[in-house]
Amino acid sequence: MKKGTKPYSIFKLKCPRCHEGDLFVNNRLFAFSQLLVMPDRCANCKQDYYIEPGFYSAALWISYPIELLLIIPTIFSGLIMDNSHQVFQILFPALVVLLFALQVPIMRISRAILLNITVAYDKTLSQ
Ligand SMILES: [Zn+2]
Repeated sequence: MKKGTKPYSIFKLKCPRCHEGDLFVNNRLFAFSQLLVMPDRCANCKQDYYIEPGFYSAALWISYPIELLLIIPTIFSGLIMDNSHQVFQILFPALVVLLFALQVPIMRISRAILLNITVAYDKTLSQ
C-alpha cells in the first residue's frame, strides 16, 4: 500500500492526517490486549483522536455492514451445502471460528475508516 492513500492509513492503523503516528496503543491488526485503547492524540502531528464525545459509536455503523457481508454468505453456505460431506464438516466450523477471530480487526478498521472519513491527509506533515 502506498503511503498517502486512505487504504494505507486504514489497514496500517496510522493517523489519517500524517500517516505516521499509530492509531492504537497496541497497533497490530490482530491484538489480544488493549483492543480499542487509543492515545488521545497522534504522537507525530498531535491530531486529536477523540474528536467529540461518543465519536466512535458511529464506527458501529461501519463495522455492521462489513460483518453482514461476511456472516450472511457463511450462513447461507451452511444451509445450502451438503452437511454429510467431510470437507464441509471441517471447513464450516473453521470458517465460523475465523469470523469470530476477525471481530477485533474489523472493529479497529472501522474506527480507522471513521477517522479517515473525518480527517483529511496532510502530506506536509509526513516525513
Ligand atoms: Zn498524525
